[in-house]
Amino acid sequence: MERKLYTARLLNKLLLSERAQCYHLEFEAPELENFSFNSGQFVSMVAVDSASKHQTRAYSIASAPRGNRFDLCVNRVEGGFFSNLLCDLEPGASTQFHGPHGLFVLRPPLKDSIFIATGTGVAPMRGFVEHLFPTETEDRSEGRHFWLVYGTRHESEIYYQRYFEKIAAEHPNFHYLATLSRPHEGWEGLRGYVQAHVKNVLEEHPQCASLNGAQPQMLAYICGLNEMVSATRDQLKELGWDRKQIHFERYD
Ligand SMILES: Cc1cc2nc3c(=O)[nH]c(=O)nc-3n(C[C@H](O)[C@H](O)[C@H](O)COP(=O)(O)OP(=O)(O)OC[C@H]3O[C@@H](n4cnc5c(N)ncnc54)[C@H](O)[C@@H]3O)c2cc1C
Repeated sequence: MERKLYTARLLNKLLLSERAQCYHLEFEAPELENFSFNSGQFVSMVAVDSASKHQTRAYSIASAPRGNRFDLCVNRVEGGFFSNLLCDLEPGASTQFHGPHGLFVLRPPLKDSIFIATGTGVAPMRGFVEHLFPTETEDRSEGRHFWLVYGTRHESEIYYQRYFEKIAAEHPNFHYLATLSRPHEGWEGLRGYVQAHVKNVLEEHPQCASLNGAQPQMLAYICGLNEMVSATRDQLKELGWDRKQIHFERYD
């Protein structure tokens, strides 16, 4: 099927982590007055490679809708075509995209939810949080509780830490947990894989997620590489969660 391609012009670029070579990229779609999407969806970026072949890769939108702009959070994959093209793009330069696509969106009605992400899997979670707790318009969280459990290896790879900490400080119903699998000596925060902390959240909030046989009422949204997504889905199923409560996006 022929899809309509739009220009994505890079407006701003921010290095989020030198070590992981991860960038926050802010684009505008100049042909569009409004780029409407649901937070959590992805765009398909399109470019032509050195063999004149069209290459397409999916990237989660790391922002809530705002006019004709959208953000991405991209890390370099060694030897990879598109991640390097995006990470090397300079403000003013353009590429193309189609979309939005995908079903990884907040399901109505809103329920207490746990967002679980590793690496750049935090991108759609940033979109969710911007949508739920906007800084310039009214809160859309409906008083529900949202936990973001974010896992990465090193402290320097905790993307958007200050943003999430600020939202957590301002909103008692947003809870932010960052855990490191390879912490440096002296790291005083959480350690280990996301699964251990997901279990703690569920145990500490039995009113949200009964572990005693009753159906838990919460929803889980999981995003990252398949290994983590599968392990976390298995964990929730073992805890008695129904498939319908678990939404996920796999990057590989
Ligand atoms: C729905 C969806 C949303 C995505 N959102 C994001 C996002 O927000 N940010 C982001 O950085 N990426 C995201 N990705 C991954 C992205 O689409 C690309 O796969 C990634 O950027 C690598 O593309 P490439 O062209 O650089 O590498 P390629 O040229 O496709 O591959 C080069 C090599 O890297 C391996 N590889 C491919 N993808 C990955 C990966 N993700 N991690 C490690 N190794 C890999 C391949 O097996 C291959 O050996 C998403 C993927 C999907 C399916």
